[in-house]
Amino acid sequence: MNTSTYTLRREIRREAPFDLVVAGGGPAGAAAAIQAGRLGARVLLAEGTGTLGGMGTSALVSQWSNIANGVSMVVGGLPEEWLTALHAGGHLQPGRGRPEYWQKETGGIGFHPEALKRLLDQQCLDAGVDLRFFTKLVDVDACAASGTVNGVILHSVEGFVYVPAGAFIDATGDAHLAHMAGVPCRTAGRDTPRIMPPTLCALVANVDFSRFDRLRDQQAAVEQAIADGYFSQPDRHVPGLFRTGDSWGILNAGHLFDTDATSQRSLSDAMIKGRQLSEEYTEFFRRYLPGCEGATNLTTAPLPGIRESRRIVGEDELTHADYRARRHFPDQIAIYCKQVDRHVYDTSAEEYERFLREFEADDKLAPGESYGIPYGILVPKGWRNLWAAGRCASSDLMTNAAIRDQPACAMMGQAAGAAAVQAIRDATPAADLDRDRLRETLRAAGARLAN
Ligand SMILES: Cc1cc2nc3c(=O)[nH]c(=O)nc-3n(C[C@H](O)[C@H](O)[C@H](O)COP(=O)(O)OP(=O)(O)OC[C@H]3O[C@@H](n4cnc5c(N)ncnc54)[C@H](O)[C@@H]3O)c2cc1C
Repeated sequence: MNTSTYTLRREIRREAPFDLVVAGGGPAGAAAAIQAGRLGARVLLAEGTGTLGGMGTSALVSQWSNIANGVSMVVGGLPEEWLTALHAGGHLQPGRGRPEYWQKETGGIGFHPEALKRLLDQQCLDAGVDLRFFTKLVDVDACAASGTVNGVILHSVEGFVYVPAGAFIDATGDAHLAHMAGVPCRTAGRDTPRIMPPTLCALVANVDFSRFDRLRDQQAAVEQAIADGYFSQPDRHVPGLFRTGDSWGILNAGHLFDTDATSQRSLSDAMIKGRQLSEEYTEFFRRYLPGCEGATNLTTAPLPGIRESRRIVGEDELTHADYRARRHFPDQIAIYCKQVDRHVYDTSAEEYERFLREFEADDKLAPGESYGIPYGILVPKGWRNLWAAGRCASSDLMTNAAIRDQPACAMMGQAAGAAAVQAIRDATPAADLDRDRLRETLRAAGARLAN
């Protein structure tokens, strides 16, 4: 434990100002940068890893949930462009990866993570984005009293640099930029009783999908393996092995209970345990599931799959009551239809029953239902030139467990990118933005806004 401090005082290079700095290149950050770049803004996108796509690529969560609501499509704009482009290249899950499926059905659609990485690179380059990999946001120059961010401090192989800009978007997933600026945030495990556990996902090959049926066989096999004493932690909630290509898929199994994504120690321990669990679950599939006898764990992801960390306190908050009412808003910047998906917090029978009750009964959407995502959840309360998009947007615990999925995060990012450009051009604080005009811009970019 640290018992003393060290004062870091140094002069660093100051860059020429950008219109917009986006921190984090996951679905939200990539969409924000692409949209803002397409609108003609000078955009810097700082991504800590060497890859765009966030959890969808670097954490191998290569599946888009709920493009449609069982009746019609609700997702539009950039995530629809991504779906269409990956379909054209033959990079979507066999069977589900076709327009007839995604325009109506609710099931998730697997995508080839490598293809998404290349697509996002290209879209950023085409939009003129200054795309910087291995570039981490490490500090923020902000004035909380006036709600203004002046600049950010980035670190790369070249050292530290100060970058001023007119607007900033926090798309780090964990609200790092907002938190460093002094925006009040709700932190899992501190402002909530417990933390929804992450999972370290893996790429698994040599699966015979003509014989492996996840929905038919997997749960009974989990119960049997628990009865046999196979698992090191008897967790009945196993999302499982999801098909992505002809004979390979993504293994989403092994909850890393009580991991705190804002703690270095906790994240490090989670990676070590995650790799052990990943092999344990691969062996479980080999032993217990038909079609998986030759399954090979090719690699675990370089990033842990974080489900929950920090959420900003925004001008608006999307609540469980809104979700339950399937509420739509005059200023909504997207609509979505993923149900609340709050994973188990421990391996108890009560927790599994609670998860099932919420997922399959209490919070399930009926065919044709959707809810709105209002603009105000992207704006930290009282801040003039800062937005937070993706899983760190302002929502309560329950609703975050619905809108944290990639299509919703990408739509929030696209809206934040458009909003930031409009705010700069109109010299308007984020909260006072002409929301009708923002929605016109989004509609022109393919958004489905329902009203
Ligand atoms: C195990 C698991 C399974 C899931 N399953 C699905 C699913 O089936 N379907 C679905 O649609 N969604 C799923 N999700 C949800 C979804 O993948 C994420 O919630 C979503 O990717 C969040 O998007 P984001 O852009 O807000 O953040 P992220 O995807 O987390 O991206 C944040 C990015 O910011 C970067 N970053 C962070 N800090 C810094 C910094 N200081 N400086 C620079 N860069 C930084 C990170 O490297 C990362 O690239 C799942 C999530 C998990 C964890």
